[in-house]
Amino acid sequence: LPRIVVAGNGQLGQMLQQAGAPMQLDVMPVDPNGDIELGLRPDDVITVEIEHWSDSVSGLQLKQHPNFRNKVALHMVIDRQRQKALLDRLQVPTSPWVSLEDGDLNAQLESVADKVIVKRRRGGYDGRGQWRWQKGDQAEAEWAGECIAEAMIPFSHEVSLVGARNAAGEKVFYPLTRNWHENGILRASVANLPVPAEQQQNAEEWLGRIMDDEGYIGVMAMECFVVDGKLLVNELAPRVHNSGHWTQEGSAISQFQLHLRALADLPLITPPVDGVSVMYNLLGRNWKPEWLQVPGVHVHWYGKEIRPGRKVGHVNICRPDVASLIDSLKALQALVDDEDKIAFEWSLAQLQ
Ligand code: ATP
Ligand code: MG
Ligand code: MG
Repeated sequence: LPRIVVAGNGQLGQMLQQAGAPMQLDVMPVDPNGDIELGLRPDDVITVEIEHWSDSVSGLQLKQHPNFRNKVALHMVIDRQRQKALLDRLQVPTSPWVSLEDGDLNAQLESVADKVIVKRRRGGYDGRGQWRWQKGDQAEAEWAGECIAEAMIPFSHEVSLVGARNAAGEKVFYPLTRNWHENGILRASVANLPVPAEQQQNAEEWLGRIMDDEGYIGVMAMECFVVDGKLLVNELAPRVHNSGHWTQEGSAISQFQLHLRALADLPLITPPVDGVSVMYNLLGRNWKPEWLQVPGVHVHWYGKEIRPGRKVGHVNICRPDVASLIDSLKALQALVDDEDKIAFEWSLAQLQ
């Protein structure tokens, strides 16, 4: 089997490495911004856990490797303008948008909607590089050329689809996950609740269409808004995704293993999902050993320095059925810091 080299050595690279361990699959996360020779071998397969890096010595080696997978998809997705244009071209529903150019910015913004979100074309994540604007507000001159503007969507909730495609073009998907973001950061996800069959079908068809168009190999995630029961695609992530972390114990095949299977050309089968799961992010907060008393609780700690609001770990709570998941959530809610109780309130509300 090939060695899998991951551009980026954050938690996603770490979890890919963990997923490879049982099969002795060699997964090597590297810093793509380093000025060192990485010693890549011709038969290595290169994948990413981050979308942006510099043209450093290491970065160029990764980019120029003949087995750098998903170069095209990455190019399409790292710039929001190209990403939105791709969705339009493939007739995948997304929020109305324009690219902001020099000229009358207020007129351009108003042409989209009375309330819009301005998003930097490159480099944004966790809601960074975004501004809210509404009719009457002053537009910032620096948005021109650097940003897109999209209509503010009055969604009832957010969902995401995680799927994978292999070299033969076979595609598999997890059930839609329901997500709660606060200030642009994912706080919690609930997985494997019943969803309208049409939503699951549409989402799989769209993500499948996108992956086919890019000749994509590996896991891709698609974030969506739900408006009047219909899906609108928010954005794509050409990698394993935070809203798929519940699959670590919530499925016999985690998104990390699924990604490795696709890259190493191992059999790709639909990941079995039997029970129900909640994932909540540890944002600038440590975990407590007593949490492990609660059935179904699994702690994933990234070993990063704790800073306010920073993703330093996550907790998966996986149980066979909704009633026992509710029991575990209530038990864990009593043990977490006050600031985190709200994530449990949201999760419990989804299970009612
Ligand atoms: P990520 O960390 O997921 O990559 P990001 O910085 O790329 O995040 P988005 O996913 O574009 O940002 O937006 C973050 C969140 O902000 C969304 O999940 C949603 O809650 C809200 N949001 C973004 N765009 C819109 C919109 N057009 N209408 C309403 N809410 C939006
Ligand atoms: Mg994003
Ligand atoms: Mg997002």
